[in-house]
Amino acid sequence: MSWDLAAQSAELRAQGLWRELRLLEEVQGPVVRVDGQELINFSSNDYLGLASSPELKEALKEGVERYGAGAGASRLVSGTQTPHLQLEQALANFKQTEAALTFSSGYAVALGTIPALMGSADTIILDKLSHACLVDAARLSGATIRVFPHNHLDKLERLLASAKGRVLIVTEAIFSMDGDACPLAEIVALKQRYGAWLLLDEAHSVGVLGPQGRGLAAALGLENQVELHMGTLSKSMGLSGGYVAASRQVIDLLINRARSLIYSTAPPSALAYAACQAVALLSGAAGDLRRQQLWSHLSFLSQEAIPASAILPRVIGDENQALKVSISLKSRGFLIPAIRYPTVARGTARLRITCTAGHSLAQIEQLRSELAALE
Ligand SMILES: *Cc1c(COP(=O)(O)O)cnc(C)c1O
Repeated sequence: MSWDLAAQSAELRAQGLWRELRLLEEVQGPVVRVDGQELINFSSNDYLGLASSPELKEALKEGVERYGAGAGASRLVSGTQTPHLQLEQALANFKQTEAALTFSSGYAVALGTIPALMGSADTIILDKLSHACLVDAARLSGATIRVFPHNHLDKLERLLASAKGRVLIVTEAIFSMDGDACPLAEIVALKQRYGAWLLLDEAHSVGVLGPQGRGLAAALGLENQVELHMGTLSKSMGLSGGYVAASRQVIDLLINRARSLIYSTAPPSALAYAACQAVALLSGAAGDLRRQQLWSHLSFLSQEAIPASAILPRVIGDENQALKVSISLKSRGFLIPAIRYPTVARGTARLRITCTAGHSLAQIEQLRSELAALE
C-alpha cells in the first residue's frame, strides 16, 4: 500500500474541498488584515466583541501577573488553583446548576463528558447536524449511536421508543452552521416521557440569547430540565476553554472519569481568572448593552424582525461556486469564508455570516448592500 498523499490532496482540490490556514496579520476588532488587505470580518464567533475588549485584555494580564503563565500539571495532580474553582462556581451560578467543570476547549468537554457517562450498553441519539465534537465523543463512548434528521421530533420519538440501556439525547441550542434553534420544549417533553437525559450544547446561544445571555434553556425557562449544559469560553466569552454545568453528582463523577480532563494539563489559571471576568461582563449591564447592539445589527442585516441567532447562513450549494463568491467578497473588502463539506453536507456549501456587537452600523450597511447585490 503506497502513501500517495499527493493524489489525496489533488482529489480534495478537484472537489473544491481543499483548505488552507488563513493568516490574520493584524486584528483590530472586526477589521482584520489578510494578505496585506484590510477586511471587515464577518466570520468570527466573538459575538459580543469581548475578545478584543480592554476589560478582558487587562484581566488576562492581571491573571498572568498573579498566577504565572502556565498551570504546570493536570487539574487532578497539582493544576487546580483558586481561579479554576472560582470560574466553575461562576459558571454554575450562571447556568443555575449545582456545579460546573471547565476543560481546555469545548471539544475536550464533549470528548471527556460523553464517554464518562455512556458505554456499550447505552444509546446516544444525536441530531443529524450536531457538531463534530459531539459525534466524535459519541463514537468514542462505544454506545449505540442513532441519528435523527435535523430537528425531526417524530423520528426522535421513534428512536427513543426503541433505544436500549441508558439513553442520552444530544443536540445544539443554536446550530453552528445553520443558525436555527432546536425545538427545546418539545425535546424536553420527549426526554421526560422516555426517561432519557439531555446534553444541550449552547456554544452559539450563550451570550446571545436569554436573560443575562444565559442561553436558550434560560430563555425558555427550561434550565432545570437539562441534565448536561455544555458550552465554550471561546465564542461570546471571548477567550478559550469549555465547560459542562450539571448536578454535583455528575460533576464529581466527571472529575473521576473524564479522560480529556484527567490526562491533560490544566488551562492556565490566568485564563480562568480572565474567564471569571468574562462571565461577569457577559451577564451584567455591559453584556446587556452589547446584546442590544448585536440584535439591532442582526435584525437590520437579516431584514427579519427577530432572527434566530447571530449566524446568518447563505447557502450556495456547489463547493467551487461558494469559494468563488467568497473570493469575490474578499476582493470587495469582506472576510466571509466558504463553509464546505465535511463541515456541512456535500452540495450545501455556504457563506456563514456572523455578526458581532463590535461591528459599526456603517460596516453592517456595507455588508447588507453587498449581499443584496449577490441576489
Ligand atoms: C465551537 C463549538 C464547539 C467547540 O468549542 P471549542 O471551545 O472551540 O473547542 C462545540 N460545539 C459547538 C456547537 C461549537 O460550535
